[in-house]
Amino acid sequence: MATPMTASQFVKALEDEGVDVREYRSWRTHNRNHKGAWGPVHGIVIHHTAGSNSLALCYDGMIGLPGPLCHTHLAKSGVASMLSAGRANHAGTFAQNAFNAMLNEASSHPRPSSSESVDGNRHTYGVEIENLGNGRDFYPQKQYDAAVRWAAAICRVHGWSADSVIGHKEGTTRKIDPKGPVGSADGPDFDMNQFRRDVDARLAKDEAPKPTTPSKPTTPTKPAKPATPATPTVDLSNLVAAARRDPDLKQGGTTHPADVKIVEAALKAEGLLGASYAKDGSFGSLTRAAYSAWQRRCGYSGSAADGIPGKASLERLGAKRGFKVKA
Ligand SMILES: [Zn+2]
Repeated sequence: MATPMTASQFVKALEDEGVDVREYRSWRTHNRNHKGAWGPVHGIVIHHTAGSNSLALCYDGMIGLPGPLCHTHLAKSGVASMLSAGRANHAGTFAQNAFNAMLNEASSHPRPSSSESVDGNRHTYGVEIENLGNGRDFYPQKQYDAAVRWAAAICRVHGWSADSVIGHKEGTTRKIDPKGPVGSADGPDFDMNQFRRDVDARLAKDEAPKPTTPSKPTTPTKPAKPATPATPTVDLSNLVAAARRDPDLKQGGTTHPADVKIVEAALKAEGLLGASYAKDGSFGSLTRAAYSAWQRRCGYSGSAADGIPGKASLERLGAKRGFKVKA
């Protein structure tokens, strides 16, 4: 999915991932969409502010570089302030080779070496992490963790892996950010490969954790449950057969429509499949693409995310969306 999130989707995604979100001034309508295109989105860019108390500056911008200068500002405390849900002046232009690696979720991110012709502001979300960028100012663990959650939240919505996340310094030779020790003054320098591993580790978790709420006392009353509808069951072998056969059938051809419909509804509920394709019972190429996005969301990649359902990813989807798997 490459359509940018709306402001409301953005906030919800971050909160679902456990980010402490604040809405700053008129951020929902604050953007540069009148100056250029916004979307399709293909990735995420990590920055440091190279200053302190940069929140208002990131919103307003400066002479020669009008705001918003990012989508989200991340304070030392880990508080995320929303500054834009549209085109923002954070990235400038990117080298084509670096951009392609992000777009294609390449497993390694080459140094930017080709002409810098890509409009990064059009295609990427950006976070400005408050840090002086002098190599001595450190990122408190809380702030670093919030950055990981921020990036993971966006990846989760779009079905991306962490290889859709780059540092500004990885997109262009003009920049050095993010830079500086993580965790403490003698911590390791901000390393984008490590950051991507941390984002992938978050994505591999079953779903975004709910913000910690005090555990509710169990209510001892009402032992009798009202009759609940039977949980639907999906037959894994039927589904695999459909996923292998349907894409080559005539448009909308079906093999095991009853099983497929249950999974399509779950993929739709995950935001991975458009409503108009979500009930045809055909495991066609769009359903395969949607299932592949679900597998990547589960932390799989390569041939393990080919859109042919496996037991583990299907059970995960069922646990979340209310169906059982017969394997
Ligand atoms: Zn930057």
